[in-house]
Amino acid sequence: MSTPAKISPATLAKLAKLGMHHRSDLLLHLPLRYEDETHLTPIDTLQPGETAQVQGIITHNEVTYRPRRSLICRMEDNSGELYLRFLNFYPSQQKQLAVGQNIRAIGEARMGYYGMEMVHAKCRAAHDNTPLNTSLTPVYPTTSGLAQTVLRKLINNALEVLPLTDTLPESLRQELHLANFGDSLKLLHNPTPDIAATALEDRSHAAWRRIKFDELLAQQLSMRVHHRERGKRQAPKLVAKKTLTRQLVKALPFALTKAQQKVLHEIEQDIEQSHPMQRLLLGDVGSGKTIVAALAALQAIENGYQAAFMAPTEILAEQHYLKLKEWLIPLGLEPVWLSGSMKKKDKAAAVERIADGTTQIAVGTHALFQASVSFKNLGLVIVDEQHKFGVQQRLALRNKGKSSQTVRGKPVEPHSPDSNISEPHQLMMSATPIPRTLAMSYYADLDVSVIDELPPGRTPIVTKLVSDSRREEVCARVRTACGNGEQVYWVCPLIAESETLELQNALETHQALTETFPERIVGLVHGRLDNAEKARVMAAFKSGEIHLLVATTVIEVGVDVPNASLMVIEHAERMGLAQLHQLRGRVGRGTAQSTCILMFQQPLSELARARLKVIFENTDGFVIAQQDLQLRGPGELLGARQSGVAMLRFADLTMDEDLLEQARRAADMLLRDHPDAARAHLHRWMSNKHDYLHV
Ligand code: ADP
Ligand code: MG
Repeated sequence: MSTPAKISPATLAKLAKLGMHHRSDLLLHLPLRYEDETHLTPIDTLQPGETAQVQGIITHNEVTYRPRRSLICRMEDNSGELYLRFLNFYPSQQKQLAVGQNIRAIGEARMGYYGMEMVHAKCRAAHDNTPLNTSLTPVYPTTSGLAQTVLRKLINNALEVLPLTDTLPESLRQELHLANFGDSLKLLHNPTPDIAATALEDRSHAAWRRIKFDELLAQQLSMRVHHRERGKRQAPKLVAKKTLTRQLVKALPFALTKAQQKVLHEIEQDIEQSHPMQRLLLGDVGSGKTIVAALAALQAIENGYQAAFMAPTEILAEQHYLKLKEWLIPLGLEPVWLSGSMKKKDKAAAVERIADGTTQIAVGTHALFQASVSFKNLGLVIVDEQHKFGVQQRLALRNKGKSSQTVRGKPVEPHSPDSNISEPHQLMMSATPIPRTLAMSYYADLDVSVIDELPPGRTPIVTKLVSDSRREEVCARVRTACGNGEQVYWVCPLIAESETLELQNALETHQALTETFPERIVGLVHGRLDNAEKARVMAAFKSGEIHLLVATTVIEVGVDVPNASLMVIEHAERMGLAQLHQLRGRVGRGTAQSTCILMFQQPLSELARARLKVIFENTDGFVIAQQDLQLRGPGELLGARQSGVAMLRFADLTMDEDLLEQARRAADMLLRDHPDAARAHLHRWMSNKHDYLHV
């Protein structure tokens, strides 16, 4: 039995940089790829793109200066010749590769100027009978100054000295046909050459599947645990009295869709519980989430509690405010508006009405959770477009509810450990439809309700792809729409590098379109306008005063103008799928046939072409999100900041959906029937152990 390897402080620091703090973290530091040093490839059989090991005698060694200073050597074996090229090299390397030396090199072969070559091959001196490796050589993620050889030694030592106990109950392992944990780890760190390299590389090998399953299981377990913890916290019971809610439903000019009724029912029941709801309401653009939120707010109000309705932008928050006024004033309630840009005096008045409980519902931006705002008795927090907020901001609002509570007449600190304080229920909404896999993975700590149906009577939006060389035709189309009394959005391109250029472009477009359509009122809205100005323009568009609205992507979320039936998006190739879908959702809100014209500029990159094809062929936000996931991967789709959960290292949600489903079911089963196994598993994967590397 070996003893744990001693690790120098310098190496410890490097390991920490890679996120490894405990000896056991070494076990789960798995190879990125493998090099096959178990056999030699004859030079004349090398294929371009193939990574291989070759051996031969150096027959030429030269430093050239064009196009760049580089070292070029020729190697020959008895089948052919190969060039070794180095762009940066040390004198020692040049010496090592002197003419006449017998060298073993490993690298990727490619067709170069002189013939087959390897750039920056890994070379070492060899004899004709230098032994070959018996297993594939793992290549680990590393950091500068930490050599692969050092990592390999430490990892192999960890494999010997640490227990590789299987955390899964045998019965579960059998049922899911999962490989043994210890064997899987050993195999991945030192695979024998008979294992198909492709199965290791594409991570479909049983050993990889086991590790990925374990990772997903740990993630599901930690979120389920979090979910259960929530069950122990306190929240006001908001009983569905159906006094105010029924009145509002009766007054609406439409009937709720089945899907709206279903999610409403889920929410109603959830906030009747005495522990806080944390529910994500997913629904495609235009599916009618706002009314659902308003009815939930009324249920809080019916019970004498306040509700807060928060949106990420002033435009959107203001829309909600207007909508809520329209719905709630007839019921004798008056929403209060709160935003960062309000005049001091108005703000103070709003804050006072929130604090003394005069108002039952406050609508606004993140100004709602600033320190100066305190609610009398906040029962429900509604967060629209929740993915636009960071986790921290949502937590702040939750704590706001807590700080407003009093215990024995004294205000309670937001972070007080007093377990009797209650916190508000939370309803988060998102129109960025998250594919099911992602929702299951990243929101396992939330409950999810889905509105999977659009209100009736909507005519599907027609999407057109038009090259920007046909701008004239697009203008003709705009003229016709305006002539029919319809309204038009004209969205200016996103210029990621420069907000100034973006603004300049919007101003120029506005100018140009004003000249093209002298008979029409052309409005302009962009991110640099102050909020009052923005609101004024939006109101004018809504009332029909403005016919054609030139806009930057600030209108992306939530704007609702049913009479707008045509949208033109310039340089659509620069925008992401979610953004295009959101923008397109601004039309098709009324009964008129709506059109979205996506103008693009040639030549298109492959990704841009793929995106435009997806948006052209699909209108269902969930399908689009699924495709987006495939095009971009989950990291970019959600962003670590928004998910609030560490990214997965091994599992790939686009490929491992089956494993995720299994992990989710296994997590519930383990927590219920094998809590010790669940604990051991979390312990292994969540790095909260005590076998620190340096002890
Ligand atoms: P989103 O889910 O994108 O936030 P909204 O709540 O803004 O959608 O609703 C879009 C539009 O549909 C609004 O004008 C809203 O009043 C209307 N609406 C909502 N529910 C229904 C329904 N059941 N029938 C008809 N129209 C509805
Ligand atoms: Mg909305």
